[in-house]
Amino acid sequence: MLSAASFSTLLSLFTVVSSLSPYPKLQAGQCKNLPNTPEWPSDVEWAKLKTAVKGRLLKPDPPAAPCHSGSNLFSVEACEDVTKGFRDSAWHARHPTSNMWQNYNNYSCMPGASGACTTGGYPIYVVEAKEASDVKAAVDFARDHNIRLNIKSTGHDFLGRSVQPNSLSIWTHNLNTKTWYPTTFAPQNCNISIPGAAVRAGAGNRWSEVSKEARARNLMVVSGAFSTVSLGGFLSNGGHGGLSAKYGLGADQVLEIDLVTPMGEIITANECQNTDYFWAMRGGGGSTYGVALAYVIKALPSERSVTIRGSLYGWDEITYWYTQWSKIAMVGGGGYFDGYPAKGDGKVTWSVAVPGFSRDQAHALVDPILDGLAKINGRQPTGYGSGGRDSSGDDDGDRSSSRSGDTDRDEEKRRVRLARRNVHASVSWHEHETWEEAEKWLYTRSELSVFGDPTSALNKRSTEATEATFPGMGTNKIIASWLYSAEDNQKPGLKQALMGAFDETTQMLNDATMGIGTHKPPHMRGGGNAVNPAFRTAIMRPASELQWTGTDRTVLAKKWKDADKFTESYRSLAPQGGTYANEAFADTRDWQHAFWGSNYERLLDIKMKVDPYGVFYCRSCVGSEFFMDNSGQLCVKS
Ligand SMILES: Cc1cc2nc3c(=O)[nH]c(=O)nc-3n(C[C@H](O)[C@H](O)[C@H](O)COP(=O)(O)OP(=O)(O)OC[C@H]3O[C@@H](n4cnc5c(N)ncnc54)[C@H](O)[C@@H]3O)c2cc1C
Repeated sequence: MLSAASFSTLLSLFTVVSSLSPYPKLQAGQCKNLPNTPEWPSDVEWAKLKTAVKGRLLKPDPPAAPCHSGSNLFSVEACEDVTKGFRDSAWHARHPTSNMWQNYNNYSCMPGASGACTTGGYPIYVVEAKEASDVKAAVDFARDHNIRLNIKSTGHDFLGRSVQPNSLSIWTHNLNTKTWYPTTFAPQNCNISIPGAAVRAGAGNRWSEVSKEARARNLMVVSGAFSTVSLGGFLSNGGHGGLSAKYGLGADQVLEIDLVTPMGEIITANECQNTDYFWAMRGGGGSTYGVALAYVIKALPSERSVTIRGSLYGWDEITYWYTQWSKIAMVGGGGYFDGYPAKGDGKVTWSVAVPGFSRDQAHALVDPILDGLAKINGRQPTGYGSGGRDSSGDDDGDRSSSRSGDTDRDEEKRRVRLARRNVHASVSWHEHETWEEAEKWLYTRSELSVFGDPTSALNKRSTEATEATFPGMGTNKIIASWLYSAEDNQKPGLKQALMGAFDETTQMLNDATMGIGTHKPPHMRGGGNAVNPAFRTAIMRPASELQWTGTDRTVLAKKWKDADKFTESYRSLAPQGGTYANEAFADTRDWQHAFWGSNYERLLDIKMKVDPYGVFYCRSCVGSEFFMDNSGQLCVKS
């Protein structure tokens, strides 16, 4: 039995412990301040912040305000622009608070004239950051006034992590400088010089801007498939693209990071100084350890490449291709699978780019796989007889890209007809002198027109085409995904796991962009980074994209459940594995380890050390499990 005195000592100990939170400077139950409460900063204090950021403090209306008669911005023409803009990723990126997926802003102001329009789902104030001191002023203000802090660059985030209600937001879109190092780069306070070209690029740069300057220098950078994504969010969690299977993830190319810490210091992190930041901010999540101002990233000499594209029909063919994919991944080839495998004829398009390969090398690699594919549905006997490789008329390198749009469309129709009979005829091959040309083919996935109007995509044949509509853009989107290794793809349960991750309305957008380069990144600095270790064995990221229109919350709840079910189906094949935190279901079970694996505990330690006041928060980000969002108010859990 405890004596009364010991019991009371224990009780007071418990009271002390339970009033603590893992954040050294936050109490359990403590909440961020809300507008219209006495704790919210006064107009005078906001005016001081405005002066500190040279006038760049905005109080924006919700993006769709021009469509609502109650708004000062109401106008039919402006509303038409908004409605069109909602379908365009670049439009969202140019707006200080807009994000692309409406299911994450509480449907608080939609382009349709019906329904309310409030800032309820959006930040209240925005610092339009143009220099480091703007970012510092915003971070200091949020910390000192206990205000919820948001970071928005482009608003692409599939987990809704760039929009937070009742917050002060830092809009990094205009942190877009670029400084090139043509031959070597020397990290600050390191006694080393890293050979090869590099660029110091502001974190708000979109990849199209950096790639454009790289191309002008006959260089290439590891970027993603979509040119309007910015460096900040992409590099924070890894970032993969057509070059990753050969050269590693985006985060593996980072040589140095300039940032503002949660305590408001402006620092530079690299392999010699501020190494915890350097490790954590390359893969350990955005909006967690600070605001990245700029990254120095490696640039590589542009390479000739081959791209190949073909079609699959149904689960047996898809599963077969997955079992073969490691042959491509382990020579540095990367690609994508697009389609609706659970709908109609189950057509899925695959595309691949193999940097450094000639067409003959590519044929030697892929033809035997196609021969195997042909046997599955008896689509054709093996070999390249009539209707085969030559008669597809598309095995002619870049010459075909100069054809007229009509000829292109005729070619495509013919290929589709032939494809149903003949596997080889479904395949187009292109050899490109530069990576820039290869990217145009790889990322313009016109056959399924998932990136918008197929005619314009065919005619343009350029990366600009991918700036247009993306499935679900401006409406609702949730992604379910998992990372699969070569071994996973050989498991007998593969087909079942994939089939369990789709219904008729769900699109497959599988990034098969991992391989030898992500397993052993050739240019990674500092001995490692915080990227999910599952990337180091993965060869692909099978993904189910749920997209729908409307604002019905019952539909949202149903889709949320489906995303959980689909994720678990993927996970059943590789329960010890994980997924990519930028392209996954926000409520993935045990997201901590699913997104960061065995790195999670170290990341959490760093978070508690560098951000004792919990200045940075985002959904399913490191350290967010100790917060709860009470209808827009962020509080430390009791
Ligand atoms: C159409 C489309 C195509 C995509 N294609 C690819 C692809 O090919 N490969 C790939 O890897 N990913 C891809 N993604 C996913 C993409 O990497 C993520 O959506 C990423 O979060 C976008 O980053 P952002 O900075 O552009 O967007 P935002 O939504 O503005 O930011 C994303 C997150 O990063 C944080 N953040 C942004 N900037 C900073 C900063 N400077 N410092 C600290 N935190 C910051 C934000 O707070 C937020 O949490 C794609 C996404 C879309 C919508």
